[in-house]
Amino acid sequence: MTDHSSNSTDALGRPVRPRRMQEASAARIGDLLAAGPTLSLEFFPPASDAAVRGLEKTLGALAGDVDPDFVSITYGAGGSTRERTRDLVVDITTANPFPAMPHLTCVGHTRAEILTLLDDYAASGVRNVLALAGDAPVDGSGVDGDFRYAIELVELVREHTDFSIGVAAHPEVHPRSIDRATDRRHLATKLAAADFGITQFFFDPTHYLQMVDELASLGVDTPVMPGVVSVTNPATIRRFAGMNAAAVPEELFARLEAAEGDDRLKIAVEATVKLCGELLDAGAPGLHFYTLNQPEATAAAYAALQ
Ligand SMILES: Cc1cc2nc3c(=O)[nH]c(=O)nc-3n(C[C@H](O)[C@H](O)[C@H](O)COP(=O)(O)OP(=O)(O)OC[C@H]3O[C@@H](n4cnc5c(N)ncnc54)[C@H](O)[C@@H]3O)c2cc1C
Repeated sequence: MTDHSSNSTDALGRPVRPRRMQEASAARIGDLLAAGPTLSLEFFPPASDAAVRGLEKTLGALAGDVDPDFVSITYGAGGSTRERTRDLVVDITTANPFPAMPHLTCVGHTRAEILTLLDDYAASGVRNVLALAGDAPVDGSGVDGDFRYAIELVELVREHTDFSIGVAAHPEVHPRSIDRATDRRHLATKLAAADFGITQFFFDPTHYLQMVDELASLGVDTPVMPGVVSVTNPATIRRFAGMNAAAVPEELFARLEAAEGDDRLKIAVEATVKLCGELLDAGAPGLHFYTLNQPEATAAAYAALQ
């Protein structure tokens, strides 16, 4: 458990302090980052009501152990989880001393649909959004709509709300990009219009550090939080990495694939702690954990980082 009685800081340099519930859940992530490093956790909206209740309970426990600065909830491209993402974000924002940020993809949506959702979020006390393009369905359906790129959503959210706006960044370059330099230019433009970025996961910190340098040389210093995943399920992470053109370290994956249960968890957590330590030492503005709704590895990594 975090010791809220002391004035000390944790491994990320975050002050350990009690938070005032309502104030904290309405925090804007850009402001949190301006005050120091953040720790955040990403979840997807479970399909069943029972699983949602389980996740909300887990979050209550994590609030004490990991003390996240915010959590984020993914969105099914094209709106397939629109209500579930919305309901979970609003419930978490109401019940916890930290904000829940909805992910929102724009491809396949009309402007009117997005504005309705943004108004709903604003009326429910939400103050942050992760503005994404999303991916068109492989069968080519549902690609109609008013948006093509994430930057168009960033501009609409900026014009219509006072939300703090996050965007996605791909250190190893987005798989649909024509080349690295073009991808970096589009990313720089998007980040300059946003308040912060969160990266796709990666395993070699050099990818992240090179991206930050390339953005700096394009004149952009918007904070970008590295996205970190603990490989408790190597087959799933290998599949996601393949979809996102992220390289996996074969030696580590071989050890993970050969191990089971607690042994695998231990290897995964050790690798996460090493990566996080290197990122924090290099000045990362925070850490964003992809929990895949199994935050045990994240909680163990956070404890080990202390
Ligand atoms: C942290 C994070 C969270 C995510 N959460 C979700 C989620 O909840 N739901 C989901 O469905 N997906 C999610 N994704 C995946 C994301 O939607 C896909 O990677 C998608 O393919 C691209 O989204 P983007 O916002 O990066 O797009 P964009 O920034 O629009 O970039 C997509 C491609 O278009 C290019 N591009 C950008 N602007 C222009 C322009 N003006 N002209 C020409 N080319 C351009 C870029 O270089 C890139 O190759 C997430 C990704 C990350 C990193």
